[in-house]
Amino acid sequence: MGEYELKCPVCRATVPDHYTNECPEKCSGLILAEYKEKQFIPKGLPGMFRYHNWLPVEGYRDVKTGPATYKSKALAEKLGLKNLYICFNGYWPEKDAWIKTCSFKELEAVPTMLRMEEKGSGILQISSAGNTGRAFCEVSADTGVPVIVVVPKYATESIWTTKPAEDVFLITIDGDYTDAIEFGNKLCQMEGIIPEGGAKNPARRDGMGTTLLSGFEAAGMIPDWYFQAVGSGTGAIAAWEMSKRLVSDGRFKDRLPRLYLSQNIPFIPMVSAWNAKRREIIEDVDMPDAKNSAMSVYATVLTNRHPPYSTKGGLFDALTETNGIMEGIESKRAEEAAEIFEKLEGADTDPAAAVCVASLIDAATKGVVKPDDVILLNITGGGYKRADLDFEKIIVEPKVSLPAGSDTGVIKDELVKWMSNYA
Ligand SMILES: *Cc1c(COP(=O)(O)O)cnc(C)c1O
Ligand SMILES: [Zn+2]
Repeated sequence: MGEYELKCPVCRATVPDHYTNECPEKCSGLILAEYKEKQFIPKGLPGMFRYHNWLPVEGYRDVKTGPATYKSKALAEKLGLKNLYICFNGYWPEKDAWIKTCSFKELEAVPTMLRMEEKGSGILQISSAGNTGRAFCEVSADTGVPVIVVVPKYATESIWTTKPAEDVFLITIDGDYTDAIEFGNKLCQMEGIIPEGGAKNPARRDGMGTTLLSGFEAAGMIPDWYFQAVGSGTGAIAAWEMSKRLVSDGRFKDRLPRLYLSQNIPFIPMVSAWNAKRREIIEDVDMPDAKNSAMSVYATVLTNRHPPYSTKGGLFDALTETNGIMEGIESKRAEEAAEIFEKLEGADTDPAAAVCVASLIDAATKGVVKPDDVILLNITGGGYKRADLDFEKIIVEPKVSLPAGSDTGVIKDELVKWMSNYA
């Protein structure tokens, strides 16, 4: 099982997988998993491992975590759409949606931690605005595999699990998401701490890309459109990469879904750069007053200040190849969209997913999407209310809280001692 090679998209070298997320030649581009199986053949394995052929792991885990797509009736009718498919990544048992931490970050955490166990050595470090951290804590609680998680202080309450997370070293930073990322990067200078890799990690991308495969199966075809709210853009890059695998299969439509992506005003660096058809993000132009605007949005998970936009194989390339669209959404419209979705479809949404719903409403209202188009709406997170009813949420206690810009020296001894438990 699990036959793949890692390829550098720049120098085309085959890269041996020791949980490797960068080309040894230091090329800047996203390393890609090339799978031996070129045809789309779902397997009788649990949860997302249905798509095992196209995940960079050898084995699998017995989990229910997976994307769940259904055809919309009420929202579709309201928007005059005949083929609206909703990929629900959250907790909604009636829709066979079993992601207990309520976001598609769990689709990343499951194969990434498995890949680390199979190919890596060391302890994974994750920086997160909340959802990724929660997903990795849950998988750690489930498997006993240790993780070091860094989140901004405001996200502390969003780091919970459904089982006690005894193998998590949680650090909070008094700053924004980017401050947390910067501290996490410093930690990875320490021996034995391995950065999860973000967009560079093929297990993250292909895990998230299973949403596109689920949508493909539900619709019975490659969708015309893929809607998602983006922070780093990794999920959208992932959907693009997966759609290329489906096209390479040869049996299906040979046109990629157009990406229709959204960010939350006022923090919209990629919307701004893409609308200027520019590969580079210019900080002063595309994200003035970045920190304050990042802290002021409704959907804080969408506030990555250093997204993989310009890099080869990154979001600019994905948008270019798919004739993509990017739109900024006001918080107020996202909040209204959340209400509309909950009323019509019956589940609450993560604020980021609400941004995406608002973008679909806009696209349908303006006629950018046509009534017959096959649309995949990625509800990247939701079902928190239902999860609240079904589980006790256990808050993960931070081991340390630090100011933004801190040095790792202050926690080094404590961390080394904790890590020695897992040596
Ligand atoms: C992380 C996240 C996003 C954005 O995904 P990216 O891959 O960072 O662009 C959207 N919605 C939810 C709920 C998320 O957790
Ligand atoms: Zn290379």
